[in-house]
Amino acid sequence: MFVSTLDTTIEFLKGVGPKRAELFQKELGIFTYEDLLNFFPFRYIDRTRFYKINELDPELPYVQILGRITSKEQIGEKHKKRLVARLTDDTGSIELVWFQSLKWVDENVTKGKVYIVFGKPTVFNGSFSISHPDLENYPRPATITGNLRLQPVYHSTEKLKKFFLDSKGIQKLQTLLIEQNLKEIVETIPSHILEKYQMAGRKEALLNIHFPKDVKSLKSAERRLKFEELFFIQLQLLHNKQLREMRFKGHSFDIVGERINTFYKEILPFELTNAQKRVIKEIRLDTQRGIQMNRLVQGDVGSGKTVVALMSMLLASDNGYQACMMAPTEILARQHYQSIVDLLKDRLVKVAILTGSSTKKQRTQLHSELEAGEIDILVGTHALIEDKVVFKNLGLVVIDEQHRFGVEQRAKLWRKNLTPPHILVMTATPIPRTLAMTLYGDLDVSIIDELPVGRKPIETRHLYEGQRLRMFGFMKEEIKKGRQVYIVYPLIKESEKLDLLHLEAGIEQLSYHFLLPDYQISIVHGKMSNADKQFEMQRFIDHKTQIMVATTVIEVGVNVPNASVMVIENAERFGLSQLHQLRGRVGRGAEQSFCILMSGNKLSPDGKLRLETMVKTNNGFEISEIDLQLRGPGDISGTQQSGVLELKLADLAKDQQILQEARNTVIETLSTDPNLENPQNSLLRTYLSKRSRGIAFDKIS
Ligand code: ADP
Ligand code: MG
Repeated sequence: MFVSTLDTTIEFLKGVGPKRAELFQKELGIFTYEDLLNFFPFRYIDRTRFYKINELDPELPYVQILGRITSKEQIGEKHKKRLVARLTDDTGSIELVWFQSLKWVDENVTKGKVYIVFGKPTVFNGSFSISHPDLENYPRPATITGNLRLQPVYHSTEKLKKFFLDSKGIQKLQTLLIEQNLKEIVETIPSHILEKYQMAGRKEALLNIHFPKDVKSLKSAERRLKFEELFFIQLQLLHNKQLREMRFKGHSFDIVGERINTFYKEILPFELTNAQKRVIKEIRLDTQRGIQMNRLVQGDVGSGKTVVALMSMLLASDNGYQACMMAPTEILARQHYQSIVDLLKDRLVKVAILTGSSTKKQRTQLHSELEAGEIDILVGTHALIEDKVVFKNLGLVVIDEQHRFGVEQRAKLWRKNLTPPHILVMTATPIPRTLAMTLYGDLDVSIIDELPVGRKPIETRHLYEGQRLRMFGFMKEEIKKGRQVYIVYPLIKESEKLDLLHLEAGIEQLSYHFLLPDYQISIVHGKMSNADKQFEMQRFIDHKTQIMVATTVIEVGVNVPNASVMVIENAERFGLSQLHQLRGRVGRGAEQSFCILMSGNKLSPDGKLRLETMVKTNNGFEISEIDLQLRGPGDISGTQQSGVLELKLADLAKDQQILQEARNTVIETLSTDPNLENPQNSLLRTYLSKRSRGIAFDKIS
């Protein structure tokens, strides 16, 4: 096997050695030459512009000044010692100050010489100074780094800095590494692809990311390396999808039969939205290919996913298969069961429910009916995927609320059968397109981007603490009209105690303003037993209480159409997608619904933007895009477990176009050359076979 010099341990690079190598590993995860090469600057300082001293401004970031050292002295005693030099140009002078490494600085900074000085100017005692500036000789030497217009800045750590591995030190090593090993850098992307997108080769790109000649070559290097990063993720995802589709034949739902037709023509009480029709058609086409379906349906709260799920299950039934629908909690499972039973009006199919609280007797009966194929649709919780639960012929699994189920559980489901059931994952947490392509890039995605007609958009207001009485007044008016109200408090793990205090104080205040017996209050929080929660929820569902005070446990899927007001306390502490989820609890009935965001007077700029966004729009996809811009992909709900998102260079919030190009390229390549046998794609084949841990690439046939 060919071994590249770039696999050499970093220890052996001149100037590193065992101690620094250990630090590189511990602090930055850099083990080899290749790792260092792939450790990119996180920003660049523009060296094309020299500032004059009279132009300095404390608002400026790093600046570059050309000037002469006109004085230099050590002042202060012992621990307070410092070295102060004066830098002068034709417009004025400033102080340069060092507190550390005085001896070294003293030896290397010469009075009377001209230097290029970098640093952040600050105002001290009424005049400008720069502490710990970088100095370079003038004129710059004609080396690889000497004529850089953009100065790379690398991340470093305190520990590394102690060993002179600050940004500058790292740059020196990069220079050495690249000068000695340029030949070793090999291409990873086939040339026909590079040509098509007019992209830089890998060597050129790496050279320019570390030592950009100018902004243009830096941009082109970034584009190429981002493309590479996203391209290989997509290749892996889509190749997995291809493998799966080739391996797992799927049940073919050829018939659009009596059940689905009767339901559609005779039972369904409303017209489907165009989006619902489109998605059902996508599912229909997908399930008749004879290949297992793996589809994600994204649709905002209230967009009508349940009907889509039900019609898909009826389709399965028409083709002689059973279907099941799995929800993340017992409450939700019950609600789904109820909605489905209501929608079907007791006709067409037999529906059953299985949850953790089903009794032994119920289970025994259910198990035998399932195995005999007497039950057509089974709704339930995780209990569904237990090994004891055996279907006669499971054809379709609908999973509600993707994020609560891990990838592992998904896999477990489709391992349940020799011919795995079709999988339909439903999520009410719209995620941005780029994120969907990366996280669920191996799934097909359907989007319900339309709400049923006649739905009144929820009105959202932002009120400050000082307006609390107004809010209480409004609640009373709505309750008088027969409506119900949610009041939600944040629950953040780190301060659970404090949260509970807030909740308790809130309840106390409420019981002062909303007196018994006119107003009844339900309370649900995380510290209660499931049975108690269930009991309190039920009182609210049955309209025995008018107010539901809760922590975020009610976030998911709870459906009480008569509740028309959602009050969110300390709204500034919630993330956007969570706010949106919470708001989705109202607006489910015929009445105009309201969401009131309560906040303190002091808001961070992000907090303010979040609340403004909520007031401005009800569109979950729009909100998710803003959330992505605000928080970056790592914090978007449900994505935390995914290593996919630890991207080096590409940014899912900004690089949509590159991602789309990368994905299209992979799709095109795999469709024209599925086994990557064409010599021009050999680099890709090599990449996959290196990474395919156990899945022999050659098995594709
Ligand atoms: P989701 O699960 O997407 O949040 P649901 O499936 O619970 O939404 O639907 C919300 C409500 O809208 C339900 O009462 C449902 O019966 C109703 N609904 C669904 N589709 C339509 C439609 N096309 N026209 C009118 N009402 C609809
Ligand atoms: Mg739903």
